[in-house]
Amino acid sequence: MIKGFRGTSLVDYPGKIASVIYTYGCNFRCPYCYNIELLLPEFYKDLEDLSEEKIIQHLKERLSFIQGVVITGGEPTIWGKRLLSLIDRLKCELALPIKLDTNGSNPEVIKILLEENLIDYIALDLKTSPQRYSELGGDFTQVEKTLDYLKDHVDKVEIRLTLYPGLIGEEELESLLPYLKPFCRIALQKYLPEKNLSGIPLTPYPKEVKERFFLYLQNHIPESHLIKRF
Ligand code: SF4
Repeated sequence: MIKGFRGTSLVDYPGKIASVIYTYGCNFRCPYCYNIELLLPEFYKDLEDLSEEKIIQHLKERLSFIQGVVITGGEPTIWGKRLLSLIDRLKCELALPIKLDTNGSNPEVIKILLEENLIDYIALDLKTSPQRYSELGGDFTQVEKTLDYLKDHVDKVEIRLTLYPGLIGEEELESLLPYLKPFCRIALQKYLPEKNLSGIPLTPYPKEVKERFFLYLQNHIPESHLIKRF
């Protein structure tokens, strides 16, 4: 399940120094994915599997200076019970706040994490309009269920939008408004063309277009706190 570990990160858990655990595999195929080593079997098959014991050992060595653990991927929730058991173990043995990055496609996993109070922060990437999820191999009805569970825990949630021109534009933002509205923390992040799955990177939006999207959301969901990461 685990194919990567970073001991110290200042950018993956807002406001915290964190270690990062990378799981492999994903049920989506976003053209802008930059974690292709963890997405495609031809790459990840050559990466070493890291045991839970090894990860816990690394984390224990860092307990004096890390303030949290981030689990990212790939898509961690595809691992279902194995992911739940890892998080349970991390909570019991380290008692550190845990953040999960997810595409929202496994509502039942998220439900258990929330109900059992195993998770402290969830960053969910909304990729495009509901109608276009099938282009990524995804099923928006599942993401919608996840969003429904998250609505009751908004203090633990960040919704992220990657400003990839092929998937997010005015039309997509408009159709996502009802799903964004309940959440108080929404981050707009840049897309990185340097390395991505499609192999034919699109030119990122110019700054003024990104600012226009930011303003659009600010005007339509004024209650939410918008975060600029572009
Ligand atoms: S959901 Fe994340 S890991 Fe999966 S393809 Fe999309 S960007 Fe890559």
